[in-house]
Amino acid sequence: MTNKEYADFLLPGNDKTIEDYEKMYPERNLPEGAIVTRYAPSPTGFVHMGALFAAFIESKMARQTNGVFYLRIEDTDQKREVENGVNGIITDLKNYGVTIDEGMTSESEWIGNYGPYIQSKRKEIYQTFAKYLIENDLAYPCFCSEEDLDNIRKEQETVKDRIGYYGKWARDRYLSREEVISKIEKGESYVIRLKSPGKFENKVVYDDLVKGKLELPENDMDIVIIKGDGLPTYHFAHLVDDHLMRTTHIIRGDEWLPSVPIHLQLFKVFGFKTPKYAHIAPLLKEDNGIRRKLSKRKDPEAAISYYHEKGIPLEAVLLYLCTVANSNFEMWYLQNKDKTVDDFKLEFKKISSSGSLFDVEKLLNISKNYISLLTAEEVYNKSLEYSERYDSELHDLLVKYKDYSINVFNIERNQKKPRKDLAMFSDVKKENWYMYDELFTNLEYNWDTITDMNEIKNILNTYVEKYFDENDDKETWFNKMKDLASSLGYAREVKDYKENPDNYKGHVGDISMVLRVALTTKTMTPDLYEIMKLLGKERIKDRISKL
Ligand code: GLU
Repeated sequence: MTNKEYADFLLPGNDKTIEDYEKMYPERNLPEGAIVTRYAPSPTGFVHMGALFAAFIESKMARQTNGVFYLRIEDTDQKREVENGVNGIITDLKNYGVTIDEGMTSESEWIGNYGPYIQSKRKEIYQTFAKYLIENDLAYPCFCSEEDLDNIRKEQETVKDRIGYYGKWARDRYLSREEVISKIEKGESYVIRLKSPGKFENKVVYDDLVKGKLELPENDMDIVIIKGDGLPTYHFAHLVDDHLMRTTHIIRGDEWLPSVPIHLQLFKVFGFKTPKYAHIAPLLKEDNGIRRKLSKRKDPEAAISYYHEKGIPLEAVLLYLCTVANSNFEMWYLQNKDKTVDDFKLEFKKISSSGSLFDVEKLLNISKNYISLLTAEEVYNKSLEYSERYDSELHDLLVKYKDYSINVFNIERNQKKPRKDLAMFSDVKKENWYMYDELFTNLEYNWDTITDMNEIKNILNTYVEKYFDENDDKETWFNKMKDLASSLGYAREVKDYKENPDNYKGHVGDISMVLRVALTTKTMTPDLYEIMKLLGKERIKDRISKL
């Protein structure tokens, strides 16, 4: 049996060579410095915030260098399969403005010339690469059962040696070809392992784009490259896919950092150019003064569906992710108000190597700012879109009172310091419900300084009878408020009251507060004059008379 026949015997069924694949997936013709990178999740059906953060960095790096960002689905662990798991990921990415140049566009379709972009459809490719190693005596079949591996581990523990399948402990590394053939003919199952050429005493030094220069022991483990089901392990698929898809940068979670020596070794045994690595630390959360990893299990804000359900605009999420990625973004954005995230140049070396804090409060502040700069029409459209899915009562009102609602959103909007009461579209109802009669029910009034109901009614009735004219401009309206105040024994100006508090029952502010609470139940609202303009005479009278 020649080496080639032996390799075909171990992994039968495909006569392509590495050269064939090199031709099928040629080097990309891209400008100097272009970054080709990917988001490579398992098909779990959703993206969590940590992964969105990585995907944001990946897509941004590709975009700003005129490179390529693609979505590859890593489904070699078939135990972790979820129905519709690819579509869920695609939808989440789309909802957050992360667009792909290549890769999966549905459960089974993709765009781009470097596919298939789903690993279960690449089995033959991996096997071709594994066969090359077998042919060159750099890989071999291993017949160890779980129990055999367990026994090796126990023995290593007893003699206090390093745990793992390496060197003299790599039992099946030393099987003769005849032994292998006879085992296979007997029907024994096997995996394919790398015959690691590394030495633990040696060090590999490499420069991580985020973590800096690192020195790690060389890999000497005979890692599994092809599993019993014929599919590759993560390590081997990483080598094959990222080589053939011509990935230049591997941007991934730092849980993969300890595997770097394995990956560098794999690229070396094939003689392929190694990609650059950028390992991203997990997002952190401050919990009772202690920083810990943002947890998919404990923290609702780790799920990106959370942002959708609350109606937090994706633009705000992206602005925040950019701030988390490079903290200098915030300053830059303040100084470049007319620009967007796309205009900012993200830098690897400014990404925190130990993990950045993910603070929802800060995100909501950014979101408040963002929404405050939208036009009333934009707020209306986004609220409509949000409520269509999450709040049918609000949606009906927005449809029924379109122009009115736009006017409501326009109060204190187009001005130097616009109102900032909306951090998310689920706040729209909370902040504006009193402008809709349909919602102005089951009321609880929050009277402020004046709480005596007789006095309140007296103020309101006098106002309606003697001072209220819906055609007044703002100045006249305010002067009348002062007239009303002085006619009832309150100071026209706050300052007069402060100078001689004993001379007055209160001041003009207390009077207008009574009106504000009567019309809205709230002590804090946007401009009362504007609110009254929109409510109109009949509804104002009606609200007052119902007290
Ligand atoms: N499928 C791997 C994961 O989900 C991808 C890691 C990588 O980007 O290489 O962790």
